[in-house]
Amino acid sequence: HAKEQGRCCFKFYSDSLNCRAIERLELEQELRKALENDEFELYYQPQIDVEKDQIVSVEALIRWHNPKHGLVSPAEFIPIAEETGLIIEIGEWVLKTACQQAKIWLDEGDNECRVSVNLSSVQFKRGSLVGYIKTVLEDTQLPANLLELELTESAIMTDVEENIVRLQQIKALGVGIAIDDFGTGYSSLSYLKKFPISTLKIDRSFITDIDTCSDAAAIVKAIIVLAETLNLAVIAEGVETKGQLKTLQSFNCSMIQGYLFSPPINAGDFESLLINDLHLVAN
Ligand code: C2E
Ligand code: MG
Ligand code: MG
Ligand code: MG
Repeated sequence: HAKEQGRCCFKFYSDSLNCRAIERLELEQELRKALENDEFELYYQPQIDVEKDQIVSVEALIRWHNPKHGLVSPAEFIPIAEETGLIIEIGEWVLKTACQQAKIWLDEGDNECRVSVNLSSVQFKRGSLVGYIKTVLEDTQLPANLLELELTESAIMTDVEENIVRLQQIKALGVGIAIDDFGTGYSSLSYLKKFPISTLKIDRSFITDIDTCSDAAAIVKAIIVLAETLNLAVIAEGVETKGQLKTLQSFNCSMIQGYLFSPPINAGDFESLLINDLHLVAN
């Protein structure tokens, strides 16, 4: 019996591994064609200043409409894009598209709305990045101060000295830098001071637990104080409940992003939100 079971398990294991490998290979091949076939779309999630009751910026988040698998989440395909180097081309498309769109909204609307674009560490490490950003800003005519780039701690904290130079070049263009998912990585606080960054985005995991776990609340409080001390903006990611919002306000954090206000939505829907100047907090 044991032998049979063992054989059975082994077979099952190898099949599923095989399956996963094939699925991955398929995804990789389809990813190569996705740009040509125009299968990507940017969704937009508002970042709200609750004191001003206003959308002040928006994060661009990529979506992939795969003809066979339907909507594929970025968490699934970004890692493959990074391993294969396809992230360079995809990332360039994201940056260009987000800047074009932000410029359209700037020309149409009354309020300036900055756009935040996620950068992969693979993109960040490329020597040509700064030149590319400059070209996109020139081509789209988007004012540099209306662009912010989001990087994770791990992208920034390896090869620190090199990164400081690159970040300074980006800052010199007038573009902002946010640290995404802050609190989950291994930031060295002494380096944090040396980086020319503009914003800390508190990771969603801390916000989720803010009203149920005193440690999470303490960490959020500490990040907010840290941001104030270093003269950085701070934004809370993944705010889903009014309770979380109230707690954040009591901690002096007024910049909020999360399902409480809106999930990421397509460009047309975001435009309605922006133009109708919805009273976001009131209801
Ligand atoms: P991220 O940059 O930290 O983006 C925030 C993620 O949290 C988004 O997931 C967003 O939909 C989700 N989110 C926002 N508010 C809430 C909330 O209240 N509750 C919950 N449960 N989730 C919320 P999404 O769009 O699936 O993106 C996942 C990750 O994929 C992003 O995390 C980012 O790391 C990466 N990503 C997305 N677009 C791009 C891109 O254009 N380029 C690169 N390099 N990475 C991207
Ligand atoms: Mg982000
Ligand atoms: Mg994040
Ligand atoms: Mg993330």
